[in-house]
Amino acid sequence: MIKTRKLYKIRYSQNGTDFIMGCPICDFEYNHIENIETQESDDYSTEFGDIFRGSATIMTMTCEEGHDYRIVFGNHKGWLYLFAIEGH
Ligand SMILES: [Zn+2]
Repeated sequence: MIKTRKLYKIRYSQNGTDFIMGCPICDFEYNHIENIETQESDDYSTEFGDIFRGSATIMTMTCEEGHDYRIVFGNHKGWLYLFAIEGH
């Protein structure tokens, strides 16, 4: 059984810096891309639960305040799901 984890919206920093992404967990604007991967799947049962079905591009990220998270672009029949999930 897949454990459902909390999802976060992607958002800009609230520190007045335009076009700077904030950490989805704490809003800190110092974030780093560790890895980018693409997963091909036609399964509803992904590690992200039953949010979407299809391929996904996943960015593994860290925040300088100590958060590890992934940004997920999930794609199914033209619908593009975009969210962050805590943990690597
Ligand atoms: Zn953070």
